Amino acid sequence: MKLCMVGTGYVGLVSGTCFADIGHTVYCVDKDINKIKKLNAGQSPIYEPGLDELIKENYRSKRLFFTSNISEALNKSDIIFICVGTPNKKNSLSVDLSYIFRVAKEISKFSKNKKIIVTKSTVPVGTGDLIEKNLKNKKKFTVISNPEFLREGDAIRDFRYPDRIVIGSDSSHAFKVMKNLYLPLINKGAKFFHTNRRGAELIKYAANAFLATKITFINEIANLCEKTGVNVEDISLGMGTDVRIGSRFLRAGPAYGGSCFPKDTKGLVSIGDKVKIDLSIVRSVIKSNDNRKILLQNKINNIFGKNIKNKKIVFLGVTFKPNTDDMRDAASLSMIPYLIKKKAIVSYYDPTGKKKEFSKLRNCIFYSDINKICKNADLIILHTEWDEFKSLNFKKLVKKTKFIIYDLRNLYNLDEMKRKKIKYFSIGRPNTN
Ligand code: NAD
Repeated sequence: MKLCMVGTGYVGLVSGTCFADIGHTVYCVDKDINKIKKLNAGQSPIYEPGLDELIKENYRSKRLFFTSNISEALNKSDIIFICVGTPNKKNSLSVDLSYIFRVAKEISKFSKNKKIIVTKSTVPVGTGDLIEKNLKNKKKFTVISNPEFLREGDAIRDFRYPDRIVIGSDSSHAFKVMKNLYLPLINKGAKFFHTNRRGAELIKYAANAFLATKITFINEIANLCEKTGVNVEDISLGMGTDVRIGSRFLRAGPAYGGSCFPKDTKGLVSIGDKVKIDLSIVRSVIKSNDNRKILLQNKINNIFGKNIKNKKIVFLGVTFKPNTDDMRDAASLSMIPYLIKKKAIVSYYDPTGKKKEFSKLRNCIFYSDINKICKNADLIILHTEWDEFKSLNFKKLVKKTKFIIYDLRNLYNLDEMKRKKIKYFSIGRPNTN
């Protein structure tokens, strides 16, 4: 089949490349000309394990194309996927759909023949109806919903082995076409789930809000554990082995971040507000997650006895999760400026390199060498659980006799840290210092 992905970001690029890899011809469109230039020169604009090779292979096989010319790409394709961003409006919970509607307008303007339009972007319930309403020559188009569930860092695996594929459509023809499109994955066991368009749109928000709730729940339990001398990992295990609860997303850590949970929890609350439904659980999840950022900052203050001026604080990892370069809503984005304001000297190392988000901050230095950055540290904050941070020899890395580790991901064993006489703090675990 011939597909057009409008928006070549994390979702459009990964799913477009993977669709090409299962045999379809894919035109990836983006208005960002530099991104398209980079892709045509064989470079991926994002870090995602395995993606570079897959892009190169499918590009060479002439199944994958990159262009800024939406009109040309649309008219070569049968199915158009909308994969543009759906951020929150500035200072508001509600979802900014301007990117979606701009694309819909362009599709309407340039398409010469029949098309299936698929929203892969996460959109509020009823957006498909609005897209349809605004299309000129409606008969030419079938608008359906196919929300994306891939996780950055595991995105290729998630495309190939999805837990489920959700199609929201009232058209049996479009459903058949979509089933055909995904057949190679369905044949390998992927569940293919059909509902109406509004249902599919809401599934995505409900799923993300539920996962964010799970994380927030265990984070609050971790706070309780710290005060009562209990290990939150025992709680996660004891709870998670109950199949009704499940063990995933029960790992305590910093405030959740990333490109989806913060914006989608807010988006869901605003969708509820519009129809006068108070989604009070999700609302308090958002509040609890915001409070967590302050709570962890206070913890750093307490670690140093409130005097962090001139302390050398090292961040290992700054992205919101490992195996991605995505900085959107990462906990480090609030922690680092806070510490700098308190006159600490902050440096960071991240396997995906220097971050433009910190380039304007004074006293925030990027190091590309983990040995150099740790040498003079007073405090090392293990912020992101990259594999390379999981078995560090801190006594060798840090040349000072006194230093502190604050492990936001509970990567290290408490007894081991005690035995090595390392001053060590973690999340929701008994204090061993
Ligand atoms: P992104 O910001 O990485 O990519 C969006 C791309 O769309 C950008 O490259 C931008 O230049 C392009 N774009 C915007 N307007 C355009 C236009 N008119 N024509 C052509 N290109 C245009 O966003 P993303 O992370 O890929 O997310 C896209 C959607 O998918 C969002 O709704 C998001 O919630 C959802 N989603 C994201 C993830 C994730 O892990 N990132 C997972 C599931 C769903």
